[in-house]
Amino acid sequence: MAWLTDAEAKAIRKTDIGPPHFGQFLPPVLKKNYGKWKYHERIDGGTMVHVGESGDKVFTVRVASPRILSTETIREMLDIADKHCDGYIRFTTRNNVEFMTPDEKKVDGLKKDLKAKGFAIGGIGPGISNMVHTQGWIHCHSACTDASGMVKAIMDELFPYFDGSKTLPAKTRLAMACCVNMCGAVHCSDIAVVAVHRKVPEINHDLLKNMCEIPTTIASCPTRAISPDPAKKSVKINAEKCMYCGNCFTVCPPIDIHNPENDGVAIVVGGKIGSLRTGPKFSKLAIPFLYNETPRWPKVVDAIKNILDVYAKNARKHERLGEWIERVGWERFFSLTGIEFTHQHIDDFTFMRDTMRTSAAFKY
Ligand code: SF4
Ligand code: SF4
Repeated sequence: MAWLTDAEAKAIRKTDIGPPHFGQFLPPVLKKNYGKWKYHERIDGGTMVHVGESGDKVFTVRVASPRILSTETIREMLDIADKHCDGYIRFTTRNNVEFMTPDEKKVDGLKKDLKAKGFAIGGIGPGISNMVHTQGWIHCHSACTDASGMVKAIMDELFPYFDGSKTLPAKTRLAMACCVNMCGAVHCSDIAVVAVHRKVPEINHDLLKNMCEIPTTIASCPTRAISPDPAKKSVKINAEKCMYCGNCFTVCPPIDIHNPENDGVAIVVGGKIGSLRTGPKFSKLAIPFLYNETPRWPKVVDAIKNILDVYAKNARKHERLGEWIERVGWERFFSLTGIEFTHQHIDDFTFMRDTMRTSAAFKY
């Protein structure tokens, strides 16, 4: 396997564009065995071992993270990595944190220190790993829901599937995005929550004429729903064309898309990234809308638990959620889960030809 040496990586990083080459940060045992791993095994819900062709072993302990981390928490993690893992630590794309060591004797001490600091160990094997999510109301301007709060409510309920005390037919990846810009991995997760606006934005014309560039605002709309309104020195929106994406709000804040009464979430299922057995899949719409019910989103939690329970009961061993649905058929998925099939499940978008393979909705 060809990859850059430290010197080569540094040589091509003479600008500040892009991240540094990951090769610079690999623990020595991973560098030595890069691309030459023989197999890996799950030891328990939060520990696994990789064995190289050279005979080297690497033990990994995985912990959950709340994604938005304080400096203090990161320092605690790094102290543990310094003590047990020669200072190396790894964040997965779903914000699990992995502590790796080639020394089996260090694993127990590592786990003890992680538990003592309150880190939850788990996420390896046929269960749920850290739920990747986005910023929510606290940090992002276009959020239609909270992210951290909802994920906490969901994972409190599903925690036995994280720590390995309960298992599923295969690994199950959960995601949450707080608007359709979708900074989370909603499109490629087994079960995912994506928050949606449902009303045409309201324009504050007085603010708009002072704050926004009209051509840029018009250009921001993907469906050309925005046009000039010269009498008001502002713009107007053709409600028929608006798809509530919130793009205009990003460019011009006086066009406000937030609507506390009508914002909420949809649930999509069946996506995956891996190409084991079947190719990667995009998620499809399961539940078009659930209202925001702060602070614990009980209907969202129940809906995810229901899908998970039905999947656990009906799928074959190693079958991902999307693979199970495709085997039994989407009609059967809806009847087994008791989820209503509605008009929102059908894609009637004008340009549906272009979205044929990528839309979350069904074609008829
Ligand atoms: Fe912001 Fe949307 Fe990303 Fe959430 S998903 S962080 S609201 S852009
Ligand atoms: Fe256009 Fe989206 Fe704004 Fe609607 S919400 S007017 S579709 S940019």
